[in-house]
Amino acid sequence: MEQDSKKVSLSTKSGLLQSENLYKYILETSVYPREPEPLRELREVTASHPRATMATAPDAGQLIALLLQLLNAKKTIEVGVFTGYSLLLTALSIPEDGKITAIDLNRNAYEIGLPIIRKAGVEHKIDFIESEALPVLDRLSKEIGNEGSFDFAYVDADKVNYWNYHERIIKLLKVGGIVVYDNTLWGGSVAMSEQETEGYMKQGRQLTIEFNKLLAADPRVQISQAPLGDGITICKRLF
Ligand code: SAH
Ligand code: CA
Repeated sequence: MEQDSKKVSLSTKSGLLQSENLYKYILETSVYPREPEPLRELREVTASHPRATMATAPDAGQLIALLLQLLNAKKTIEVGVFTGYSLLLTALSIPEDGKITAIDLNRNAYEIGLPIIRKAGVEHKIDFIESEALPVLDRLSKEIGNEGSFDFAYVDADKVNYWNYHERIIKLLKVGGIVVYDNTLWGGSVAMSEQETEGYMKQGRQLTIEFNKLLAADPRVQISQAPLGDGITICKRLF
């Protein structure tokens, strides 16, 4: 037991910080008081879902909202919707005529968030596509006018495809556009040995380690690894 409790597990309550109290402090002081009401409602509805830990962490979400506003983002992509926390956050951050192409292979969880998204009056900004993400990104690339036209993308789906998503999204983004990847510290396991890592996290750890190396070596992007939530990596397209 002693041994097990030292092993790292995904999405602990404290995020990646030293203590749960510090994370709680950040959320209660700076994040929750500024969280828009519909987003709070969606977070609370999601909390009872058995896979609630998949939702974007509110502290990471707060930075994403800031980035969207700094960019004046209007045309965005989201890969991995779940109940829609990051999707609603994006919809609330872009202008009335903004558009989000949101892709998830399963619509069921999205249906949970949809009534709240409707009530918030932002459903018209969302084009939800129930599909594997790769073929949709390929189709988007083929459509005239899409390459180099997106302001922002958020990727929070199957880690095995992160590099495949990157290769496509980097071309869809404008020069100066930003793509954010979630879970890039994988519960902190990237800095632990394989033996110290819980079995169910081993594959994600390996994939994340490889992805982080590839991103760090990619001259097309300027990057920042921000240890918010489960780790997000912010990448700006340079050319
Ligand atoms: N961003 C969401 C959380 C996403 S969880 C939020 O803030 O709540 C990851 C999601 O990725 C799941 O809903 C899952 O269905 C989706 N997903 C996994 N593999 C996928 C794939 N190959 N293509 C599209 N979506 C995928
Ligand atoms: Ca995630």
